[in-house]
Amino acid sequence: MEHLISVLELLKEGKVAESDSNVKVYEKSFTEKENVKLVMVNEQDGKWILAVGDGELYKELNGKDIKGLGKACPLSHENRLVLNNYFTYTVPQAFGTKVATMGLGDRLGLASPGHIQTLRNRKVKPILAQQSIRELTLTNRTMIDILDAASFAVFQEGYKDGYGADGDHIKEEKDIAYALSLGISFLTLDCSDHIPNQIESASDSDVRADYEKLPQETKDYFNEIYLNQSFDVDGLAIKYDEIALMKNVLLYGGALNYTEHVYKSYITEADKAIDFEISIDETETITSPDAHFFVANELKRRQVSVTSLAPRFCGEFQKGIDYIGDMKQFEKELSEHASIAEYFGYKLSIHSGSDKFSVFPIIGEYTKGVLHIKTAGTNWLEAVRVIANTNPDLYRKMHIHAEEHFEETLKYYHVTPDLKSIAPLEITQDADLPNYMDNDAARQLFHVTYGILLTATDEQGNFLFKDEFFKTLNEKEETYSQALVKHIGKHVDLLGL
Ligand SMILES: [Zn+2]
Repeated sequence: MEHLISVLELLKEGKVAESDSNVKVYEKSFTEKENVKLVMVNEQDGKWILAVGDGELYKELNGKDIKGLGKACPLSHENRLVLNNYFTYTVPQAFGTKVATMGLGDRLGLASPGHIQTLRNRKVKPILAQQSIRELTLTNRTMIDILDAASFAVFQEGYKDGYGADGDHIKEEKDIAYALSLGISFLTLDCSDHIPNQIESASDSDVRADYEKLPQETKDYFNEIYLNQSFDVDGLAIKYDEIALMKNVLLYGGALNYTEHVYKSYITEADKAIDFEISIDETETITSPDAHFFVANELKRRQVSVTSLAPRFCGEFQKGIDYIGDMKQFEKELSEHASIAEYFGYKLSIHSGSDKFSVFPIIGEYTKGVLHIKTAGTNWLEAVRVIANTNPDLYRKMHIHAEEHFEETLKYYHVTPDLKSIAPLEITQDADLPNYMDNDAARQLFHVTYGILLTATDEQGNFLFKDEFFKTLNEKEETYSQALVKHIGKHVDLLGL
């Protein structure tokens, strides 16, 4: 606390102190409002917002008085809410269908400053908070933690161009209501529980039999609109024969009903604009362009307007590695998906979008730079790379633990790494440890074991890695930010944003 005195004295005069070995001062955070001057600092025992002045804002901020000069306010949830009230740029906002957005999941609560530095002055807005229920559960974090971290990062960087917060891959109504009540600006509705997996491989007679069971009025409705009709999407002809129509109805009928319900009960009822994304990607069924059109056209008929839609593309979008599959087929279908999205007036959304370097240029081209793309685990992998670079002993312990526990992750994640292609740790020099993050199998190994690594404890309940991991990254904050600027910057460059 001693070190903060000189910073406060200068702040009183409206000046920002320079960082020294004791205190890092985030100069971009400096701001003045209603007689109060604020700046964020990082001292040995953590980050604080220093406040001097008087008035309502000063009173509302909770903090320790420092020799009558001002106060040091912790980055608490309560203080975040106070910032939100006085500084609108710290509140998540919706962006609509005309501007590109990038989901930047931050499993650690440390990546957002680097993400802001990456996207500042680009043609894409950051969705800084983006965490699925799965990720929250696996890391023992709450949605409130995620929103607090994003808000403080925006304040730290003095970033005033707007950011979003995504309630990611939410399935259940209670989670939707909860996420909206916390102030998210983007909702990704995961419809996978409503998309039956067996239809795609079912025989024609089984499809027919299932379809027959639907109410007569449902069948009449779909037959009249779609059967043997031709739709023209800016030159792309879409047609449905009997079996194709039946399959689409059986596959997506339930998801459409659920989406309509969520839209009408939550999105239109929310007290602010919400970017509403529908995700039909987390299923075993590849979304054909015909199926995409069917879903889009039904949403329109039901007056449900979505901001973005995430199809499941052909080939594989595995976590943390490049695209796997037939590039020609992918390009053809991508161009059709992009046309359909443009025709209906929403953005195409690319999930598991990190590290797909070989297809980014065509994704940027066909979407004309108006898309949503989600990244998450890759940001954690860059953190692991920083550990490998700066704390080799910790990296080695984590690597061994990840290998020992890899199997347990397969119930959450679909990845197929060739673990034998990972160089044995015993023969790898410290200087070569960061290269593991260039090996696809090692990337996937760490990509899926984050929850296990960050929650692992010894018999006494002490964390095996977590505390040292965070301590190292806190000390190397700038190194981590620069790693993200480089890595995510490469994504943005290739997408043409
Ligand atoms: Zn998804």
